[in-house]
Amino acid sequence: MKLQRTLPPTVAPISLRGLLGAAVRLWGGSACRDRVRQELKAHFGAADAFLVSSGKAALTVILRALMARSTRRRVVIPAYTCFSVPSAVVKAGVDVVLCDVEPSTLDFNYSELERLLDDRVLCVVSTHLFGHSSDVNRVKRLCQEKGILVVEDAAQAFGGRSENALLGSLGDVSFFSLGRGKNLTCGTGGVILAKSAALAQAISEQFDELEESPRREVLKNWLEMLAMRLFIHPAVYWIPSGLPFLRLGETRFYTDFQVYRMDEVRAHQLLGWEKRLRQANEERISCANSFIHGLAESTGNATPIAGKESVFLRLPVLVKDRAMKQSICRRSQVVGAGLSPNYPATIQEIPELAGRIEARGVPGAQSVVERLVTLPTHRYVRNNDRVKILELFAMNSDSPLATPPTGTDADRDADSLHACSAGHAG
Ligand SMILES: *Cc1c(COP(=O)(O)O)cnc(C)c1O
Repeated sequence: MKLQRTLPPTVAPISLRGLLGAAVRLWGGSACRDRVRQELKAHFGAADAFLVSSGKAALTVILRALMARSTRRRVVIPAYTCFSVPSAVVKAGVDVVLCDVEPSTLDFNYSELERLLDDRVLCVVSTHLFGHSSDVNRVKRLCQEKGILVVEDAAQAFGGRSENALLGSLGDVSFFSLGRGKNLTCGTGGVILAKSAALAQAISEQFDELEESPRREVLKNWLEMLAMRLFIHPAVYWIPSGLPFLRLGETRFYTDFQVYRMDEVRAHQLLGWEKRLRQANEERISCANSFIHGLAESTGNATPIAGKESVFLRLPVLVKDRAMKQSICRRSQVVGAGLSPNYPATIQEIPELAGRIEARGVPGAQSVVERLVTLPTHRYVRNNDRVKILELFAMNSDSPLATPPTGTDADRDADSLHACSAGHAG
């Protein structure tokens, strides 16, 4: 733990007043939930919207709904994505099928996707990683004639657009995460949007089976939000970031998560979501653009993955090779620059999935694991921080400066790189 300005990898806007006001909802009710649900439905032009306890829970409910209407049992997901995605697929009791990704877009390798689509496939999960849009319409064109549904994973892209359509309105059904490292947060939470009345009905049947979040969970989540609100500032973020038991930024595969309805306390924190989300995303876009500009002037060893419409929850950058990534991440740790190495492995390499998925190479995803870093884009990234971060890229990976100044730091940082934070975007 080092007492120095430390940037968190992501920051979602939290209003302290809103948070304190939400406490009165500990006694329940449904006014906030009804209101937020109606607002989401109208905003996205969805047949219906549902509020649940997390993004994982949202995907689990979606899959259960699709399973109830079909005998197909395969779900195609990207080989590089958040570990929560296969966690939900396995929890729902369907088979994970991996499709490799294209490092330059982080989207599917489409020739491989075409080969995977047959009459055993229930749905394909198309994912907008880091707020950078994937080509959901292309996936839909491939799936339509084969009776395959498209689930849009917009967990990291709340508030994003693509060709004038809102991300989250493209898939047959889509979901957002309201977890701590996402565009907007209420601690943990998830939103499901169904495009058609038929799917809305199928999801509604599953949603009706869900229990309310227990009171102690609601209280715990609220206290964690309060702690986060107090410790997210770069002046004090070194405190939680130096406490390994908090496991900040870890991404884990686990299926024993709970699937509840969202409670009223969390829904209360979402009031005014549209304005706060827009503002936070505008700040992220402007910060990311200045990094893109800065990187264009540096070495050429670092290529941002950017679309003109990305909302940039973080800015993804592909570097030359594994050595360059490791040295940049290590130095970022030493100076508290908030870079993240992201997911530590491909989905293929998750030990719990061995035997459940076909063993084969996913070279695109492997290359992303080796070469992708993401830059913080939130409101606390100041001018000096930007300079400091761009310097990390300007230094040649095999220059003497690549080695951190002291041995103890080097050891600790090598360890934390292994534990490998994915931002808190888990
Ligand atoms: C965070 C995330 C999820 C899961 O959301 P939780 O709210 O953390 O359960 C799913 N997919 C992607 C791409 C994510 O980043």
